[in-house]
Amino acid sequence: MPKNDKPHAALLASPGMGHLIPIVELGKRMAAHHDFHVTIFFVASDHGSTTLLLKSPTLENLDIVPLPLVDISGLVDPNTQLVEKLIVMMRESLPSLRSLIAAMMYRPSALIVDLFGADAFEIAEEFKMFKYVFNTANAWCLAVIFQSSRLDNKFILEHHVNGQKPLEIPGCKSLSSEDIPESLRNIDCNDQPEFHGTKMTNSHGILINTWEDLESSTIEALRDNNYLGGLVKVPIYPIGPLVRQDGNQALDKQVKQWLDKQPIESVIYVSFGSGGTLSAKQMTELAWGLEQSQQKFIWVVRPPSNNAVGTYFTIGIDDVDGTPDYLPQGFFTRTKETGLVIPMWAPQAQILSHPSVGGFLSHCGWNSTLESIMNGVPMIAWPLYAEQKMNAAMLIEDFEIAVRPKVSTTEDIVGREEIENMVRTIMADKEGQAMRDRVMELKNSAEKALCKGGSSFNSLSQIAKDCMHHLLP
Ligand code: UDP
Repeated sequence: MPKNDKPHAALLASPGMGHLIPIVELGKRMAAHHDFHVTIFFVASDHGSTTLLLKSPTLENLDIVPLPLVDISGLVDPNTQLVEKLIVMMRESLPSLRSLIAAMMYRPSALIVDLFGADAFEIAEEFKMFKYVFNTANAWCLAVIFQSSRLDNKFILEHHVNGQKPLEIPGCKSLSSEDIPESLRNIDCNDQPEFHGTKMTNSHGILINTWEDLESSTIEALRDNNYLGGLVKVPIYPIGPLVRQDGNQALDKQVKQWLDKQPIESVIYVSFGSGGTLSAKQMTELAWGLEQSQQKFIWVVRPPSNNAVGTYFTIGIDDVDGTPDYLPQGFFTRTKETGLVIPMWAPQAQILSHPSVGGFLSHCGWNSTLESIMNGVPMIAWPLYAEQKMNAAMLIEDFEIAVRPKVSTTEDIVGREEIENMVRTIMADKEGQAMRDRVMELKNSAEKALCKGGSSFNSLSQIAKDCMHHLLP
């Protein structure tokens, strides 16, 4: 039961592990380091891993409350973009959220929502709560959202995508035409950036899962009162990097035993996030590339799909050596000594923190990127959807801690030789070692931001002060 001598914040996460995980980490940090009582509400999706997360150890002053599942089948077309489905799910969850908050004896003084939850601000206004947005992506992505909220998707498609002109983002790195996220290329999806842009500025501040030193010029631009004609104007709080740092004690026994046997920094971890999938042809090339590289690997495999966001199908097993039928015949037998294949879902944060892991082939979701940095691991950037291509560009051009395939990972097939070469570069070449050194520098700067008196710590302290103030008569 929350006590009224400390600030009480309600956090609201939209469906998907990529949203829930950083919200939970924010909640833990507020509770552990800033003396908040925290109640996390999340909109349950049917992802089994949500249950796994709920079972993880938590803190006395942190409650996690699932909101009832909502049925949106009668409200949206099945082919509607994921982003729009998320927004509708969040809207449909508002009545349950409202009832739960109304029934609380010690009402929260602040409501913090992620990018898809800004409609819940009407509840915050009703109960006179502070309103914050937590952008779980980076500051550059936020600037792109604001800039694109002023443009028409048709214009972006004609001038920047088809016309191949970079999208200029004032005060920031410009966005190359091939890295423009699909939601901005889609003329039917015109309302999304506007939705985010305008709702986010109706808040008391925007928290970002980044830190001052990582994106200093972008953050400075966002803080300028005249930025984009005075569009932003709310305080910007870089409070990250917030990632799970569970250590590897709780690793599954088989995975831990396998990793413990491998030399230090010798294993590349391969995963495409919570929902990413590859085509059958691409999976075959990846399997051969990993095998030919002769480097150790852990690969989280999912059945192939031509939709990069992926859906889960039943895994088929052939009868020769247990290789799922979408991997090359005999793959398991030939890679018995070098690789470990984990179906569907792996304890990623724990695997990345094991000393034997020295590389990460990743779809570049922002949580995965931060987890890689916080474990000092360089990357192969293999973006699939959403803002992942932008993240990949940052990792390569700004931080120089990753390599990227020459062909687009969403349009063409990355061949086995190229995969083999990239794996060797990261794991065995001098170039990979130089990247590892640079990741360590970023990790150190991130740790400085998070520790007491650091920039991210101070940002959260400021929010705690504001919320405490709100409790006074
Ligand atoms: N994750 C995991 N095991 C998996 C796949 C993903 O633990 O097999 C976690 C990963 O550690 C990260 C989150 O799920 O914290 C995925 O977030 P990210 O932003 O990287 O990508 P998204 O899934 O949102 O595309």
